[in-house]
Amino acid sequence: MNRIRKIALEEHFMAPGFERYSKTFLQHIDKATYAELASRLADFDELRLTEMDRAGIAVTVLSQTGPGVQGELDTHAAIASAKDNNDFLASQVARHPTRYAGFATLPMQSPQAAAEELTRAVVALGFKGALVNGHTQGRYYDDPAFDVVWERFQALDVPLYLHPIDFPAVPASFAGHAELTGATWGWGVETATHALRLLFSGVFDRFPKLKVILGHMGEGLPFQRWRFDSRFGAYPHGIRLHRAPSEYIGSNIVITTSGVCSGAALAGAIAELGEEAVMFSVDYPYESTAVAADFIESAPMDDRTRHLVCHGNAERLLKLNAA
Ligand code: MN
Repeated sequence: MNRIRKIALEEHFMAPGFERYSKTFLQHIDKATYAELASRLADFDELRLTEMDRAGIAVTVLSQTGPGVQGELDTHAAIASAKDNNDFLASQVARHPTRYAGFATLPMQSPQAAAEELTRAVVALGFKGALVNGHTQGRYYDDPAFDVVWERFQALDVPLYLHPIDFPAVPASFAGHAELTGATWGWGVETATHALRLLFSGVFDRFPKLKVILGHMGEGLPFQRWRFDSRFGAYPHGIRLHRAPSEYIGSNIVITTSGVCSGAALAGAIAELGEEAVMFSVDYPYESTAVAADFIESAPMDDRTRHLVCHGNAERLLKLNAA
């Protein structure tokens, strides 16, 4: 089959020693499934490259699976673990430099150390940005202490992929419904809320060139843009933004299709955000590469849009060389 060139951005690995951070994350997955996932997360050769080849994925941007270093309680250990993770990933990317690129792990426990590690990862290791697994021990990045990190993302002109994580404390509305707290619903609520905290706290006004990537078709945000404007304007809250809330979603906030293989949802997201704000991804190894690739090649959209979504937008955002 003649495949359309694809770049995939939410594709995970497990670095040696990082299993210790994944204990709470693994509660969502049964043991037999995890054994299969673990072999795929640890592989950088046969399994991954074969699937990429079959699906027409030219380049995969790799990231540590959740919660990663966000799960570390000790700040000094987090800084050391993040460095180890990034050095490990760089060594794997170097083995297949035309097929893999890297998103850095950042020790957000220390905003200054996170900014420095981002610089090292981008400048010295050649990474394309960073993927952070949501809040760090309940701290959200609209806190002005993180402006030093946002400033660095903007200065380096690289994006942050804001990836889901468990709630720091499960909200009362989820009580008695463990099936809702994880990937089925809760992660999307948690991550979309984090993105809205950034938006409404003015992070994108302070750093107007900043790009934050959300997976899972934008964690629901594309479909609420009209309501954000309508209700934000309807109530007094003392917040002043430079633009209407909707205008940040599709410009500063861009999305991937990871884990949502619905043509109707994709068409809606493109209609809301524009064809330059939506990028293909799989969410390997948790989702099927084949299903995602077949979906993006058959979903209703014109050829120009399909090429932008499959690879053009990622090449522009991540400054990847087009083949
Ligand atoms: Mn993921």
